[in-house]
Amino acid sequence: MSLEPFFNRLRSDLEGAKRDRLYKNELILRSPQQSQVSVGDGDKSTLINMCSNNYLGLANSPELVAAARHSLLTDGFGMASVRFICGSHAIHKELEERISQFLGTEDTILFSSCFDANAGVFEALLGEDDIIISDALNHASIIDGIRLCKARRLRYLNNDIEDLERALKETSGARTILIATDGVFSMDGIVADLEKICRLAERHNALVLVDDSHAVGFIGPSGRGTPALFGVQDKVQIVTGTLGKALGGASGGYVSGRREIVEWLRQRARPYLFSNALMPAICAAALAAIDLAEGGDQLRESLARQTARLRSGLSRLGVKLGGNAHPIVPVLCGEAHLATELAGHFRENQILAVPFSFPVVPKGQARVRMQVCASHSEAEIDQVLTAVECFPSLEALKEVA
Ligand code: PLP
Repeated sequence: MSLEPFFNRLRSDLEGAKRDRLYKNELILRSPQQSQVSVGDGDKSTLINMCSNNYLGLANSPELVAAARHSLLTDGFGMASVRFICGSHAIHKELEERISQFLGTEDTILFSSCFDANAGVFEALLGEDDIIISDALNHASIIDGIRLCKARRLRYLNNDIEDLERALKETSGARTILIATDGVFSMDGIVADLEKICRLAERHNALVLVDDSHAVGFIGPSGRGTPALFGVQDKVQIVTGTLGKALGGASGGYVSGRREIVEWLRQRARPYLFSNALMPAICAAALAAIDLAEGGDQLRESLARQTARLRSGLSRLGVKLGGNAHPIVPVLCGEAHLATELAGHFRENQILAVPFSFPVVPKGQARVRMQVCASHSEAEIDQVLTAVECFPSLEALKEVA
């Protein structure tokens, strides 16, 4: 017996991914994450970064760096334990309380990432007598979390309330029904219609889970997220989110909501029970990030202003965009080759933005997804618009249906 067939298969799969242009090459940054990043040596190495999740521009904020540095000196480096053995530090509790206060929830439990939060939440709370109804465009971590759970699964078309109602009618006999949705769908920058979702949920006695990773810190009043935007905080029982995007961008995630839910997750959520506690310095920086986000109307205004400048400028040039006011600004390209060509053209013009094509988005719906950051300047946004204006295939881009 030889292991060669296994390695031959991997080599062949890798070649196939390269041949089909699905192979992901990683860009190496040589500067901190910020609105302009260095990726190599020489004049052309500084790029305007239009593809990070650094919505509030806090990833290299002096306040966060100082908070993390102070924590490193006082709290130490690592916890070397899961939370329930000897890995619970006072700063974890402080951050959990601060997130609850910020979101207006009863309690919060931290995870190493939002991927882990979503991987753990369904299986711990629901079983084979229950039903989960999930939006078709939910994040991969919700899909995987649901797969790990024995509850029956139903899917509804993206943000389609009629289709959600159809699914809800198929739930008779279920012990518990849970509707799971992203607060913002990250490929399109579309905000979930939480008002209608919550109204339907109430009528059918269903729980609502919202993953607010692409909203927390910058959407809704004081950046409290999509439930606050729609005024339905009391109708969303479970919110999951990340510290890895607007709130500093390091890592960490959470589940926030009703006290009983959080208490039970501490007992049963497997990624919480069997994975190391978050580094204290990350918690310290996240505390600073929440302070900056909560008092960050100016940051949010800047983000909204630059987003509007980019969106209106691109629309004036005749290109089709996804979403409507969110800083995720997808330039719809239709075929994958046009998205690749546009991203290549951006790169030649010192702009970093990546193409997305099948299987990340459906066939024929390729796009270059741009993301605006509060620290982008007008000049940087205008440089992006100038690049689009001189894109050799602009006419083809305008004709995308
Ligand atoms: N949920 C959504 C909607 C996301 O977009 C992401 C990140 O891409 C995650 C969860 C995972 O977050 P984390 O990076 O904290 O694991």
